Amino acid sequence: MVLDAARTPLRPAELPVPRPGRGQLRLRVRACGVCRTDLHVVDGELTKPKLPLVLGHQIVGIVEEPGPGAGRHAAGSRVGVPWLGWTCGECAYCRSGRENLCRRARFTGYDVDGGYAEAAVADERFCFAIPASYPDLQAAPLLCAGLIGWRSLKLAGDGERLGLYGFGAAAHIVAQVARHQGRRVFAFVRPGRDEARRFALEMGAAWAGGSDERPPEPLDAAIVFAPVGELVPLALRAVGPGAVVVCGGIHMSEIPSFPYELLWEERVLRSVANLTRADAEEFLALAPRVPVRTQVKSYPLEAAEQALDDLRRGRLRGAAVIAISG
Ligand SMILES: [Zn+2]
Ligand SMILES: [Zn+2]
Repeated sequence: MVLDAARTPLRPAELPVPRPGRGQLRLRVRACGVCRTDLHVVDGELTKPKLPLVLGHQIVGIVEEPGPGAGRHAAGSRVGVPWLGWTCGECAYCRSGRENLCRRARFTGYDVDGGYAEAAVADERFCFAIPASYPDLQAAPLLCAGLIGWRSLKLAGDGERLGLYGFGAAAHIVAQVARHQGRRVFAFVRPGRDEARRFALEMGAAWAGGSDERPPEPLDAAIVFAPVGELVPLALRAVGPGAVVVCGGIHMSEIPSFPYELLWEERVLRSVANLTRADAEEFLALAPRVPVRTQVKSYPLEAAEQALDDLRRGRLRGAAVIAISG
């Protein structure tokens, strides 16, 4: 499924089977998670995609052809490909454990073709073994919702009372990890969305309410997953002194101005950008131990537009995943 230009529908196309270059793997794609970032690309909010583009950066695939010099993953093994597709390895960020900020980084399904396809090519250093206990469809959301969620959770600090704004794919994973760590989760959903509220409670939230509500007690940290700037001052209002508010998305609508008192008392407001390979190794080891159970709705490849639309309209419980048969 090919994106030719922003704000146009994806187009089914027959593309040549990609050839793996040096250090790359050609994968037979089994599943690919659908992420809100894909919507930001389609909507033109992320402005520099390769075009035409195959979207998708939560790829579960089987190694079909290792390219020259590739030896990390054997043919026939199952790997996952996340958003971070390549880094320079030389810059100050790369050399200090912050390759997520590499200025020359390339991203899967943005700078290079992704997984809304039957085949994909990826740099083997950025491919990860998938825990055996996860079927393909259930594994896919671990690769962005899970990884970015995990990085967001780490940056939120160790506080016991964690707020999650927006209860989609990432939050439903983070809630399970946070509970496993002994935290309590307070879920904030779009006002009036009872279905989302119930889903959050099923996923282990101690409390779930509308984003316009105050939690029953002040929070130690909050993560804003919904791409809605208005939520930032609301989250700052919901947390106590010294708390961290993390914006977990790659794009957000404008944040309204707010009084300094919301930031005062050492509250911290920060974003999370991309992921490092260390995040991926950590989280993919942790997920089966929790164990994180992902709730997915699957779509055939040719229904990718429908998956994006369902995500846009908030019709999902958990994550949308494209299933590729054959
Ligand atoms: Zn770099
Ligand atoms: Zn993503």
